[in-house]
Amino acid sequence: MDSERQHSLLAHQKNILSKIALGESLNEIFDDICLAIEEIIDDKAAKCSILSLDGKQLFHCAAPSIDPEYSAIINGVHIGEAVGSCGTAAHRNSRVIVENIETSPLWQNFKEVALKFNLKSCWSTPITSSQSEVLGSFAIYHDHPKRPSKKDLELIDYFVNFSSIALEKLQHLNKVENLINDLEISNKKLNAFTKVMPDPALILSEEGVYLDVYGSSEDLLAYSTKQLINKNVNDILPKKYASAIMKTLKKTLASNEVQVFEYELEVQKGLVIFEGRTTPIIYEQPGEKPKKHILWVSRDITLRKKAEKEIEKLAYYDPLTNLPNRRLLTERLTRCVERIKRSQKTGALLFLDVDNFKRINDSLGHSAGDELLIEMTKRLSSVVRASDTLARIGGDEFVILLEYIGENNEHATDEAAVVAQKLQRVFYEKFQIGALAFQVSGSIGICLIENINSSVENILKFADTAMYRAKVKGGNGYSFYDSRLQTLLEKQTELETDIIRAIDSNEFCAYFQPQVDVKGKITGCEALIRWNHPIKGLIAPNEFIPIAEQFGLIQKLQNIVLQDICRLMNQLTHLDIIDSEFNLSINISQNQFNSSTLKTELLNIINNFKVTPSRIKLEITESMLAHDPLHTLQQMEELKALGFSFSIDDFGTGYSCLSHLHAYPVKELKVDKSFIDNILNNTSGLSIVETIINLAKNLDITVVAEGVETQQQFDILKEMEIDAIQGYLIAKPMPFKQYLEWQKQYLIQSSATNK
Ligand code: C2E
Ligand code: CA
Ligand code: CA
Repeated sequence: MDSERQHSLLAHQKNILSKIALGESLNEIFDDICLAIEEIIDDKAAKCSILSLDGKQLFHCAAPSIDPEYSAIINGVHIGEAVGSCGTAAHRNSRVIVENIETSPLWQNFKEVALKFNLKSCWSTPITSSQSEVLGSFAIYHDHPKRPSKKDLELIDYFVNFSSIALEKLQHLNKVENLINDLEISNKKLNAFTKVMPDPALILSEEGVYLDVYGSSEDLLAYSTKQLINKNVNDILPKKYASAIMKTLKKTLASNEVQVFEYELEVQKGLVIFEGRTTPIIYEQPGEKPKKHILWVSRDITLRKKAEKEIEKLAYYDPLTNLPNRRLLTERLTRCVERIKRSQKTGALLFLDVDNFKRINDSLGHSAGDELLIEMTKRLSSVVRASDTLARIGGDEFVILLEYIGENNEHATDEAAVVAQKLQRVFYEKFQIGALAFQVSGSIGICLIENINSSVENILKFADTAMYRAKVKGGNGYSFYDSRLQTLLEKQTELETDIIRAIDSNEFCAYFQPQVDVKGKITGCEALIRWNHPIKGLIAPNEFIPIAEQFGLIQKLQNIVLQDICRLMNQLTHLDIIDSEFNLSINISQNQFNSSTLKTELLNIINNFKVTPSRIKLEITESMLAHDPLHTLQQMEELKALGFSFSIDDFGTGYSCLSHLHAYPVKELKVDKSFIDNILNNTSGLSIVETIINLAKNLDITVVAEGVETQQQFDILKEMEIDAIQGYLIAKPMPFKQYLEWQKQYLIQSSATNK
């Protein structure tokens, strides 16, 4: 290279490099490169073109001496084999020298255009990056076929080198620009997001130092962001939280898992319940390498917690008294039973029911009832320990669950009794409701909870059963559950339902047993109820009368008997086989006798059948006389005034009120069968009967002997001048028709013997 060219080359080099360094536009730099090579290369006809590559296509960059129309036509050409010199060179990543475009197979598809612009030869060299990737191509055209000299090629390489520096720099700049753009976009997104993010998000270091704070407001932070940054959790949070949070941070990093926890914190907004979530993240601090830190997001769940509490309250507490309801009790009882099964200890469940609550509620109204329950809750709560559960599970039903009451059954029984007594003491003082003061009492049933017994449902049921027994015993007391009691009660309930069914299916009727005097004359008969059970057969009254009494069914049964009596009476009258002294006896039970409706019930039926009360003898027992003497006397007087007469049944068995007998309007005494049974066996039986007969004679009361079975008994009684006898010796109790038949036959026979 001559010195002039050398000089010019250096001048161009300096110019181009400075433009590259200054970041001038690529077109300007490439224009300069083209002009420089055109000037320096040997042949003045040389034209230079630079194309940059976009993966698959070549785009025009600079060709200051070539017709722009040509450049426009080839702009965007897809690289490939036989795509002129440049397309092929870029495709092959190696220099392609075409001396004669017209004859070259590589130009077959493009030669027409080239020739049109008088371009005859084209040497193309790929511009490559430092990593040898193709960035574009560099071409020298001539208007005549030409082959390059060695020098030409050196020069081309020299300028291609510049081109690659320029292109590579541009690429790098583009990359940086893109990165900055991306970063700006994601920053904007992050800002937009954190500005509306309600949950504060904190970045903490492993040591618990606040590194960054994000979030829409500082309300939910204990201090401002500024005050937090670079401070340690231990300096900011109350001690109990700080240590818990530090543990959680450590755990988050150690487990590499999200930790969720709840905490309550006094923040700028006030006391807030948070749900915290800590996640390990790789986070970079300015001037530091990326490091594992912790992202701690805090969500304000105060409202949610409040709502949850409300819901729980509704589901588990009684709204009137705020006491646990049946559901909560059942849950606690379930847990208690499980614990007891493991621990072998004993607990107890006390079921308290207010006596006569219904009456208070009905007579004073519900709000008064509510007031009473609230006051009762207050009193009961003061007696029950905090570890026990006092629940309200129904209108006036309270339950006290004592989780541990003793080591064993005996100990627990004593303790439970003490608690029951304490509970009863809350009733000592009257309950003030409005202007009125009430004496209220409660019945308590106790079921011990032992490791062997207990299913939750049974414990409640058993305590209820025991409570019921306390009620039956008169209320205002407590009673322990006893499994025998349960069986009995179950049987009784079954029987009760069966009686109700049987009344509807007309399974009850009266049997009749005659009474005769010592001369053999029929003086009357006693009606005795029978149950004609479709499966069990004939059932005697002792098996069902007590239940019928207990469940309030006795009146219905009595009415059946009474109707049968009236029918019999009318039949006997119709047959004209009785005189005016003939009496029909009917048994009256205690409850019935006390009932205020007894008179109307009796009258309604007998009036219906047109039977007069003077035909009816009411059998009551001795103990009924003793029960409530004044009321009894009054009741008897009233019934007597209507025409009914009275007989004292089972006489001698009750704690006798022989001395008071004269005070009552009694027409007859029935000496109990037990005395008649003993009349032949020992002297005491005999003398008792004798005494009764003498006493009765003095009071002008007739005496009937019950259960006379033998002729010897009859003979002795006759000697003692008994008035009448009743028993199997004469006849067994008989159903309606049979009895009628019997009485007719008896009359025929006795009139025959009398004749
Ligand atoms: P009660 O009033 O003392 O009736 C007499 C019972 O002795 C009857 O038993 C009768 O069948 C039985 N009896 C009569 N003579 C003899 C005898 O010679 N030997 C033996 N071994 N027994 C005899 P029943 O009918 O089983 O009645 C039992 C109890 O049921 C009655 O005792 C009475 O207290 C009650 N009862 C019966 N019917 C009624 C009723 O309609 N209403 C009420 N409230 N109670 C009734
Ligand atoms: Ca009787
Ligand atoms: Ca009797």
